[in-house]
Amino acid sequence: MINTLLKHKNNLVKSMEEILGEANVLSSYDERYIYSTDSTNITNPEEIADVVVFPVNTLQVSKIMKYAYANNIPVVARSAGTNLCGACLPKHGGIILNFTKMNKIININKNNLICIVEPGVIIEDLQKAADAYNLFYPPDPSNLKVSMIGGSIGLSSGGPHTFKYGSTKDFVIDLEVVLADGTIVNTASECSKDVTGYNLTQLFVGSEGTLGIITKAVLKLIPKPESKRVMLAYFDSLDDTSKAVNDIISNLITPSVIDLMDKNTLQTVESFYPSGLLTDKAAALLIEIDGFKSTLDEQYKKIIEICYKNKSAYIQTANTKEEEERIWISRRSSFGATAKLAPNVVTEDVVVPRENIVPLVIGIRKICNKYNLKTCIMGHIGDGNIHPNIALDLRNPIERKNFENAKTELFELALSLNGTLSGEHGIGCEKSYFINKAVESNCLFLMKQIKKLFDPKGILNPGKIF
Ligand SMILES: Cc1cc2nc3c(=O)[nH]c(=O)nc-3n(C[C@H](O)[C@H](O)[C@H](O)COP(=O)(O)OP(=O)(O)OC[C@H]3O[C@@H](n4cnc5c(N)ncnc54)[C@H](O)[C@@H]3O)c2cc1C
Repeated sequence: MINTLLKHKNNLVKSMEEILGEANVLSSYDERYIYSTDSTNITNPEEIADVVVFPVNTLQVSKIMKYAYANNIPVVARSAGTNLCGACLPKHGGIILNFTKMNKIININKNNLICIVEPGVIIEDLQKAADAYNLFYPPDPSNLKVSMIGGSIGLSSGGPHTFKYGSTKDFVIDLEVVLADGTIVNTASECSKDVTGYNLTQLFVGSEGTLGIITKAVLKLIPKPESKRVMLAYFDSLDDTSKAVNDIISNLITPSVIDLMDKNTLQTVESFYPSGLLTDKAAALLIEIDGFKSTLDEQYKKIIEICYKNKSAYIQTANTKEEEERIWISRRSSFGATAKLAPNVVTEDVVVPRENIVPLVIGIRKICNKYNLKTCIMGHIGDGNIHPNIALDLRNPIERKNFENAKTELFELALSLNGTLSGEHGIGCEKSYFINKAVESNCLFLMKQIKKLFDPKGILNPGKIF
């Protein structure tokens, strides 16, 4: 372990205090433990950070990296720490580089349709700031009230609006990155089009802090849609639900959101946050359309017609902002609601081509039943990206073993349906054991060469992805 090279821990804390000031360095056991967790609840008390630091500018990050590089100390970048795959757990100890104090929206440029932000900006704060200029930043992980730009670039996070607008990767134009040895680089320009050389920007997007540390991002914004409409369409069968999705799309309608909640999700959310969801239906689709007011009525009517043609049992339309909000809260509560069922929730993130969604969902249900796991299935059906939320007690060795077996079978199922392990949550240390089955060996070799080039000493977030 790299951490065994860490002989002089006191020197490390002292050096960090010299770079950042005492107020920006934490070193007690409890503080180090707290910042060594994420949303997976799998922190091993023996694998925690040696120090947690809060840089306030790029120069400080560069100095920290220079020190870490010279002394072979692992560095794990952390924004809000909400990822679901163990992506920022300090498996080999070292420095947690926490970005909550680098949280400035530096600029919003209405004419160029871009913004420049630091990694600690909360996604919802950026959306609100853009809204004031009548602009829109669409990537919206369901926990956008807490998750941050740095982490969402680190994972190329998606969310409900990905179906129409794309995920984080589609909005990153240029990055300021501190490399493993402390060198500061800018990967591209502020231009919306730039093919001057290799696309280094996209190499860092989704790299989970294993290639470099993002200290600034130029992101694309789009004009805010003038209006939107929201509905929940219920179905008695998954087949009909999926047919309705395909029909809507083949009728040349691109909803801004088309998300699925299965019966267990409807029941669990309704008991947690009663809002009148129909709990006896097999599934519901949350459908949102956006655009010019004048075009929405026609699309709205057409979607309702298509859903009824595909045997929708009931359609709940939102006619006020409050009704819209209620539907959205139900959808966004699915993780929190599932967390009421057991001490832990594990969310998986497999993705398949959309036409394989029905066998995927049926297969997930079968696997979870086989291993006696309580599971609420939801996700971005338009993208073929499904999230089984599995409620269990990870302290119980039988449940944990059952979950591990189910996870492997779930990955095998996704691959057998031409899909893959993760659509938006990343690999971290939770799925890395399976990556050699999901990525062809020549590509895996290239990825490992890239890692070596950017991080020759293996200090950047070791133990992740591979
Ligand atoms: C309730 C809930 C709902 C969620 N819903 C969604 C969803 O709908 N869609 C979705 O895609 N995800 C979702 N997630 C997963 C996750 O929250 C998001 O991916 C989120 O965007 C991660 O942001 P974060 O700030 O918490 O990142 P972190 O967890 O702090 O970091 C994520 C990764 O990025 C790296 N990183 C962080 N900062 C930097 C930096 N400055 N430079 C380089 N690398 C960095 C980290 O090392 C780590 O590998 C959800 C999670 C929860 C708990």
